[in-house]
Parts: sequence; C-alpha cells; structure tokens
Amino acid sequence: MHTAAAPLPESMEADWLALFDDVPTATRETLREVVMTHRESMAVAFYARMMVDVDARPFLTHEAVEKRLRFSMQRWLETLFSCATREQFAAAMAMQRHVGEVHARVELPVNIVARGARVLKGEIAHRLLDTGLDGAALVDAVLYADNLIDLAFEEMSSAYVASHERAARIDEAYRVFSYGQNMSLERERQRAALLDWENRFLQEMMAGAVGDELQTLGDSSFGLWLHHKASAIFEGSSELPAIREAIHTIDANLLPLCQVQLGSPDREETRRLAKAVQMELGQLKFLTGAMFERFVDLESGKDALTQLLNRRFLPAILSREAEISRSQAKPFAVLLVDVDHFKHINDRHGHDAGDRVLQQMAGLLLNTVRSGDFLFRYGGEEFLVLLVEVDDQHARRVAEKIRSRVEQENFLLANGQSLQITTSIGLAMHDGHPDYQRLVNRADDALYRAKHDGRNRVVVAER
Ligand code: GH3
Ligand code: MG
Ligand code: MG
Repeated sequence: MHTAAAPLPESMEADWLALFDDVPTATRETLREVVMTHRESMAVAFYARMMVDVDARPFLTHEAVEKRLRFSMQRWLETLFSCATREQFAAAMAMQRHVGEVHARVELPVNIVARGARVLKGEIAHRLLDTGLDGAALVDAVLYADNLIDLAFEEMSSAYVASHERAARIDEAYRVFSYGQNMSLERERQRAALLDWENRFLQEMMAGAVGDELQTLGDSSFGLWLHHKASAIFEGSSELPAIREAIHTIDANLLPLCQVQLGSPDREETRRLAKAVQMELGQLKFLTGAMFERFVDLESGKDALTQLLNRRFLPAILSREAEISRSQAKPFAVLLVDVDHFKHINDRHGHDAGDRVLQQMAGLLLNTVRSGDFLFRYGGEEFLVLLVEVDDQHARRVAEKIRSRVEQENFLLANGQSLQITTSIGLAMHDGHPDYQRLVNRADDALYRAKHDGRNRVVVAER
C-alpha cells in the first residue's frame, strides 16, 4: 500500500498540471488506452529487456518477475497514466516514494532504474506509433508519457537518496558506537571465546561417546560475534572473508569427520583429526588478531606499514589546509614522492625488503620535514608531503633536500647489505583553487614529467 503522502514539492505538481493542461484530453485518453491495453505485454517486454543486463539480473530472478514484479509494473503503469486530478497525481507520487524506498532497501543502483525508465519510454512510444495518432498529437502523447515517467523517476530518486542517506547515517552511527567499545577488551573476550571452544572441542573428542553432538564453531559465542558484530565493525577488512572461510573449513569439512570418530577406539586417528582442527584454529586466531590490529591502525588514521597518515584522511586535511590558506593568505605545497624503479627492488630482493625500504623512506621523510607538515602514504611506493605555510622557494628547497637525502641514504636489507635508491618528485603550490583534487593532479602531472625526464629529480607544476 502507499505510504502516507509526504508533502509533494509544489513545483512538481505545477509542472504536472501544466503538462496535463497542455495535452488535449482526447490525446491523453488514447495514451491511457494504449497503456491499459498493452500494459501486460509491455511489462513482459520490459523485464525481458532488463534481464539481458548483467548488472540488473541479481535483482530480477525469474521467479520474482513472474510472481510479483510483472504485476506491480502493470499497476504502476495504470496508476501513473490514469492520473486526472491533483489527488490522483499526489497518490501516484506517493507510490513513487514507496518504490524509491524499496529500491534503497534492496540497494538497487539508481542507474538501473534510470535505464528502466528509458526502456519503458521506448516501449510506450513504440506502441503509440500504431494508434493512428497524427503528427502533433503523436508528439503530444510521447511528450506526456516521457514527462510523466520523468516525474515519477524524480520522485522515486528523491526518496531513494533520502533513504540511502538515512541508512548511511545509521551505519556511521553504529560504527562510531563500535569505536566506543573497548577494542582491546573485545579482543581479549574473543580470544578467550576461541580458547573456550577449543578446550570444549578437545575434551569432547577425547572423552566423547557415540551420539554426542559436537558444537560447531559457527554456533559458538565467537561464531555469533563474528557473524553479527564483527561483520559490521570490520566491514571491508581483508581478514574477514578468510576468517569465515576458516570457520567453514572447520564446521563443514573437519567437524563431520570428528563427529563420526567420537567414541572410536582408534586414538591415533582421533588425535590426528583434533590436530587438524587445531591447525585451522591457529590460522583463525592469527587472522582475528591481525584484524583487530589493523582496525586500531586504521582508526588512528595510520598506514599499517609505514605509520604515516592513511590516504583516506587526505581529503579532510587538504580541504582544511585550503581553508586556512585562504583565510590567512599563507600558501602551502604538495609533493608527490615516488620511488624510482621500485619494482626492481621487490624483484631482486623480495617483497619484505621492499617493505623495509618503504619503512625507512617514511623515517627519512619524517626527519626531513617540520612537525607541522603532513606525511601520507599515498600509494604503494608513493608518498604525499603537505608542506604548510611555505612559499615557492622554500617548497623547492625541501623537495630537493628529500631527493638528495634519499639518494645518499643507505637502505638496509635484512641480510646486513644495503642498497641505494632514488625518487622522483612532483611539486605543486596551492594556487587558491577550491578543488583540492586539482592540486594533487597538478603534482601528479609534475611527477609524471620528472619520471619522463629521467627520474631522480624534482619538477615543479605550472600554476
Ligand atoms: P617508476 O620508476 O616508474 O615509478 O617504476 P616503479 O617500478 O617504481 O613503479 P611501478 O608503479 O611500476 O611499480 C611499483 C611497485 O611497487 C609495484 C608493486 O608491486 C610495489 N608495491 C606496492 N606497494 C608495495 C608494498 O606495500 N610493499 C612492497 N614491497 N611493494 C609494493
Ligand atoms: Mg615508482
Ligand atoms: Mg608509483
């Protein structure tokens, strides 16, 4: 059923009324008849067309289309194209808001809805061609249909955006709430929960009898926590899928074997199976620990490897600095520092050696800039330095200092040997443009030229 009608923007109603008055009644009636006559075949054609697209398919199972969507679409067409009074129009728009909210809940991308609108317009125009409407009336009918669908889409989108934002705020609030949880306490609790499960499992394996039921890890206190809370708190973490996988391996592959083994006199086999579960559990403990650790790093805004600022804080810091710079007329600069031929280092000395070089680079940068400057890990082997309150000359001097210090530094390898590296640097002075991305792009262009001109050099971006 329709949601209670929230106030419809007056301009929308006015637009519809103007449209309605513009089109002769007879033409509108013909359009309505066309839609009513063909609504079923249009709905079928509509979903057939939408199901061709890979991105739309997950939302359109064959069953859902057959059971519900085909009929909702026909009702939707009927409601929309039968509007003849303000009240009916308001009700039709309320229906659009409801649809928009549903789309937001199922996270149907708005571009797919836009595509649907386009497909429908095509369907209707196509049917109108067979009505015998003459030139001007045909144009009127097509325009009316198109505008009506556009109005519906507009109202649907506005509800969609509002729902989506509300959901994002709730998500965010929940994340903030979970930061407030004492994470080191949580970590200890989960460590203990895993240990509890392990002890119980070992006990049951050794002393269990035929018919005893082994508790799955998924049903344990740890499993429930992971499924319901961790998935929200650690959303997007790379460990999460691996942890789920490990739980699945234990519950679906190993435990059934253990279950069969209960009460068996073959102690050797019992021990072997228990060991296999413990191995998997060891992996799971490691992953869980890593997940907590990364969370702490991320939340403190730091990149885990170099301890420099995480790139995701760049927009916030850059726009703040742009604001300070504007209000106090003090320029600032951005340097993009990229290690030359870093891939060779990885290839020749291994990834761990590469990691050590990056850590040492971070230390060198930290010792070269002032404490008021900002250092980001911008990409794999790329650093972004934000120099506050500097003029052109000063920024160039710092960039050059970084370049020459790196060139002279001995980067230590684990085996006691050392290696030399160089960097290319793109420098851009903030030119007052409010879009900070432009500043970073200018630095990036300058860096590109530094690479192109032979590396191990500083290039200053033009203003
Ligand atoms: P160029 O002089 O043009 O910059 O060459 P390059 O080899 O430095 O640049 P490219 O972008 O081709 O390669 C960068 C390499 O950095 C590729 C990637 O494997 C490596 N890398 C990225 N992140 C890390 C990391 O965290 N640790 C290590 N060890 N290597 C990384
Ligand atoms: Mg590089
Ligand atoms: Mg690079």
